[in-house]
Amino acid sequence: MAIRQDDNRPTRRFGLVNLLLIGFGVLLLFSNFLPNPATQVPRVPYSLFIDQVNDDNVKRAYITQDQIRYELTKAPEEGAPTVLSTTPIFDMELPQRLEQHGVEFAAAPPKRPSFITTALSWVVPPLIFILVLQFFARRSGMGGGAQGALSFTKSKAKVYVPDEESRVTFADVAGVDEAKTELTEIVDFLKTPQRYMDIGARIPKGVLLVGPPGTGKTLLSKAVAGEASVPFFIISGSEFVELFVGAGAARVRDLFEEAKKKAPCIIFIDELDAIGKSRSGSMGVVGGNDEREQTLNQLLTEMDGFTAQDKPVIVLAATNQPETLDAALLRPGRFDRQVLVDRPDLSGRKMILDIYGKKVKLAEGVDLDKIAQATSGFAGADLANLVNEAALLAARAYRTTVEQADLNEAIERVVAGLEKKSRVLQPDEKKVVAYHEVGHAIVGHLMPGGSKVAKISIVPRGMAALGYTLQLPTEERFLNSKEDLEGQIATLLGGRSAEEVVFGEVTTGAANDLQRATDIAEQMIGTYGMSETLGPLAYDKQGGSRFLGGNSNPRRAVSDATALEIDKEVRGLVDRAHDRALAILHHNRELLETISHKILEKEVIEGDELKHLLASSQLPETPVLEAAVG
Ligand code: ADP
Ligand code: MG
Ligand code: ZN
Repeated sequence: MAIRQDDNRPTRRFGLVNLLLIGFGVLLLFSNFLPNPATQVPRVPYSLFIDQVNDDNVKRAYITQDQIRYELTKAPEEGAPTVLSTTPIFDMELPQRLEQHGVEFAAAPPKRPSFITTALSWVVPPLIFILVLQFFARRSGMGGGAQGALSFTKSKAKVYVPDEESRVTFADVAGVDEAKTELTEIVDFLKTPQRYMDIGARIPKGVLLVGPPGTGKTLLSKAVAGEASVPFFIISGSEFVELFVGAGAARVRDLFEEAKKKAPCIIFIDELDAIGKSRSGSMGVVGGNDEREQTLNQLLTEMDGFTAQDKPVIVLAATNQPETLDAALLRPGRFDRQVLVDRPDLSGRKMILDIYGKKVKLAEGVDLDKIAQATSGFAGADLANLVNEAALLAARAYRTTVEQADLNEAIERVVAGLEKKSRVLQPDEKKVVAYHEVGHAIVGHLMPGGSKVAKISIVPRGMAALGYTLQLPTEERFLNSKEDLEGQIATLLGGRSAEEVVFGEVTTGAANDLQRATDIAEQMIGTYGMSETLGPLAYDKQGGSRFLGGNSNPRRAVSDATALEIDKEVRGLVDRAHDRALAILHHNRELLETISHKILEKEVIEGDELKHLLASSQLPETPVLEAAVG
């Protein structure tokens, strides 16, 4: 169902529809309340009518479906009415009876629907239908009142007109400098297309912002509009795909038509992957994809279509799943520019924290650098959330400023979900969790690499974590050595190993640790070429899935023998790390007990106390690696 309405005067059409409807409504009312002469005739019981017929007192009768009107030969009393009516009941004998008593009678001709009724029955239902459609269209439409009937195919793009106060500029976005540089150029295109045309440069049509969720893609695109001060159409990919087949394509057409009228301008399609999914990769889903495909085709056609260089329409789009996009979208002349919007590094995080720190009242001496250090891997949205969370904590404690401790606690909240003190562990469970976490801590403390154990907690947090060991990086690291990674695997296995050492059995609590340890081991072999026997080959294809975590990487075509070898190597890495963790924990058995007892008492150990406790841990004398291998 593709209703296309090219009428650009939706408001007027809306008025016409309403007028028509009101007119017909009035007619309908009148047809029901037309004065009916029968209503003035006194109504009597049917039995009386029969009696009167039997008494030969009825002169004539006029029988219709819903009433019998009859005239008496003589009135029962002086001055009483002689014309009466009654309601017929189903009586097959009536004609016979009337004939016997010499009543002159006639029946009404079968009711033929009047012209008005016919007309109404044809016109009213469609009108109701249209009104219902309109209702939905208005409800889902973003423009609100301005959109009229049959506006399904109107693009629902919001035109973003930045006013001076709410205007987003590049100053509001931090930590994504490369993306900013690229987009500054786009702003320039829009402001002074002539300069580029004079030199013969082709202005890019499409720019794709690629990056994990919450890194500021939407924010950046708004900043582009704010900086360029051109009209900015913003629509989400998912809004194209809705309700009716064909509507998406029509909406795309409409959107571009509108945009061309307002050029130079920007169209921003958020969540492009909703329409731009690879057509071939739809994995045999039957039907259902037609709509998306049509929409995608229309988008491609439109992007190829506009060529006016002096009035550029630049399409910005954002996605966090670039690898799922149809290759056709990425061809030259379409989204040929791709801008990576990645998670911020240490200095980027500091700048973002500065932006949001200004929006709350920070206490004297709050050190945002420390917070930036402790939030490696946080995206911009997480940091914004963190500052807000800290402010909430301060307000809850009736303080007027946000203190360092609030920010620290907020980190933990954001990392591990909200504190759930109400969740009660059984005493024996608590014991397992305690040894498990202390296991992580001791192994983590002894492993090389740029992070130190900062806190052990057995207070359950969020949904999954029963306890946790917080390792903070002491420095910002971009490279990890093989040794570091092996240390990370051993640390991850430290929890499970402690359970083995202490209780001689394992629980389900280590599932996530094992997952992560195996991922690291796989990446070491498959991605980083860290295996001696397999050599510096990348067995995993880097399918752009860096945002989804490593395990969706397809493996390169390898021989069965190699596949077996890879599996063996991964297994070997994890096994060796496990042995190493076990050896360390056996060697530090007493310390494991001491700290575990302490944490069972206090639930949380951190800071100097933890540092002091862990300082007495020792690596076993025998070089564990060789011992384990041999
Ligand atoms: P995305 O579109 O990449 O998922 P958003 O742009 O919607 O992310 O970011 C959500 C919110 O997080 C923004 O409104 C902003 O408050 C904050 N934010 C994210 N990244 C940044 C950044 N680089 N600088 C400042 N704020 C950011
Ligand atoms: Mg977004
Ligand atoms: Zn664990």
